[in-house]
Amino acid sequence: MKNIYPIFNNMLSKEEKERQLHQRGVTLWFTGLSGSGKSTIAVALERRLALQGVLCKVLDGDNIRSGINSDLSFSDMDREENIRRTAEICKLFNDTGIVTIAAFVSPNAYLRALARSIIGEGNIMEIYISTPLAECERRDVKGLYAKARQGGITDFTGISARFEEPKSADISIDTTNRSVESCVDEIMNRIASRVVYELQY
Ligand code: ADP
Repeated sequence: MKNIYPIFNNMLSKEEKERQLHQRGVTLWFTGLSGSGKSTIAVALERRLALQGVLCKVLDGDNIRSGINSDLSFSDMDREENIRRTAEICKLFNDTGIVTIAAFVSPNAYLRALARSIIGEGNIMEIYISTPLAECERRDVKGLYAKARQGGITDFTGISARFEEPKSADISIDTTNRSVESCVDEIMNRIASRVVYELQY
């Protein structure tokens, strides 16, 4: 069959871009309850990787749902579409050699498998921020747990909707009584070989 998109054959490959940036285009996919620490750690991790010269992009509910996914609700169908589009965006960044740090509740195995299938098995590490519900609720960063307990939010993960624990996350971290920096230290140690060509401490 005639190739109707011959121009794509001339595009620089992922590998060429990784060589240019001297890093691997992988996705670090954070999953966990609201308030568990995903976004806080994602942002701190990006800063730490930047110190090593690694270019990253953090994606979370705020920058995704306020822009490209502003048309989506929190229905099951739209939650799936939110993850599908986010994973496609991760893939685009990864294909450009950029490390993507995605912080989404992604509460069940189906959604996490969807992300994995789009991003590609070899390009994703799953990081489960396993801070227990009681601690997340105690923090109640955005006041959402109180609201959910009062019935003000339907299908709120952890309260009125189930969070299915990941069975085979690459990294699991409970942030209770731990500093953000110590969590970042642990993640840095575990991801080093997957992210950079050489990591100098
Ligand atoms: P999520 O993105 O999972 O909804 P956030 O990062 O928005 O969670 O909120 C986590 C809250 O927990 C923040 O207020 C943060 O300061 C606090 N926190 C306390 N200890 C830690 C830790 N070790 N790692 C991450 N967050 C922590």
